[in-house]
Amino acid sequence: MPRFQRPTGTLDTLPEDQHYWDHVRRRARHLAELAGFERIDVPVFEATQLFARGIGAGTDVVDKEMYAFTDKGGHQLTLRPEFTAGVVRAYIENGLQVRPQPQKLYSFGPTFRYDRPQAGRYRQFTQFNVEILGEQDPVADVEVMALVWDLYAGLGFQDLEFQLNSTGCPRCRPGYVKVLKEHYVRHLDVICEDCQRRLERSPLRVLDCKADQCQPVIAGAPHFLDYLCDECAAHFGTLRDYLDLLDRQYTINHRLVRGLDYYTKTVFEVWAAGIGAQAAVCGGGRYDGLAERLGGPPTPGVGVAVGLERIILVMEDLGVEVPSLPGPRVFLAHLGPLAKREALRLLDELRRSDVAAWMALGERGLRSQLREAGKRGVRHVIILGEDELQNGVATVRDMEAGEQVNVQLAELVGWLSDRV
Ligand code: AMP
Repeated sequence: MPRFQRPTGTLDTLPEDQHYWDHVRRRARHLAELAGFERIDVPVFEATQLFARGIGAGTDVVDKEMYAFTDKGGHQLTLRPEFTAGVVRAYIENGLQVRPQPQKLYSFGPTFRYDRPQAGRYRQFTQFNVEILGEQDPVADVEVMALVWDLYAGLGFQDLEFQLNSTGCPRCRPGYVKVLKEHYVRHLDVICEDCQRRLERSPLRVLDCKADQCQPVIAGAPHFLDYLCDECAAHFGTLRDYLDLLDRQYTINHRLVRGLDYYTKTVFEVWAAGIGAQAAVCGGGRYDGLAERLGGPPTPGVGVAVGLERIILVMEDLGVEVPSLPGPRVFLAHLGPLAKREALRLLDELRRSDVAAWMALGERGLRSQLREAGKRGVRHVIILGEDELQNGVATVRDMEAGEQVNVQLAELVGWLSDRV
């Protein structure tokens, strides 16, 4: 028989790691709801065209990384590589633009990219995604940035700082792309083959090329900030002012352009040490043209996607302690068939009374049952034998205090409810 393994680039999250996930999700949800975000869930797969149009043909995500397939009905579908396109589709399709604006929406869930797997980079990963739709005020940009900042700060991240840039709008971008191309044309003999292609298909992406030979060319490239139109420059200036006001540190990164085509104006990331080359723990920005690109009404928007696996890697690296999830606190040990029946009845009653309980399975000696109770880390062990049943009592051993008492069976559930 073949031994099956999980597919390359996927993870199993075992029970002992769930408390990290639970903690991060709980913090994220709490902060989102504190800031007035409401949860939205969208499908794990969407029409392939949605991503091709939204994210943009020519981007790595669309050209190389999509899990695209044709279903049995002949529909072209893709496992979502990110949330924003799906959320904006849902906003348009469900008429959320007629609700009070802006709409503030958050989501959690798996995302899929056929990426080259390594530490911190997977083919299935989990995003916490936040969007504000229907608002162009830079306050909205700062709100999503402050939210992720507070998430990282609350989880123990040190030395936080945003990487920040603006990628302008359809009015000023062509002017910048023109001077950027002119600069690159002067260095065509130096730059890598990928960048030669990017210059045609997605010219801004030359700025985040990692190839050694391209670094001097990038260093000498013009800065988008010098070519912003008045509106984009004002937006960026106000955003910086608000970030200063709220004491959220940032560094201007002229090379930051992000891998998805829909961004306008603000783009940002947060980088963290401890996860090797995959330094970004979140990425986001403004996408004022996306809704129209997807056939909806003009709707400004801004959002951020947080990768949860990378957060957990950083937390492990920093040694951040997270409280364990509570397991069963009561264990029922039994000797003999009558006692087993009574244990099962008590188990059921305890659970109905909201007491997390576990009973020994099979027929075993008391020592073996107590050993199991010890391994499971329970507080109280209820011991039921023939003597106990005859006297209508149970022996209750407190594993932490090392004490043992008898409790009337009729009172046992109430007695335990008061103590666990
Ligand atoms: P992006 O839209 O590519 O910037 O992705 C947003 C966030 O998702 C990143 O900052 C990462 O935290 C996370 N992320 C993106 N791609 C991967 C991946 N292949 N594996 C794990 N996390 C990822």
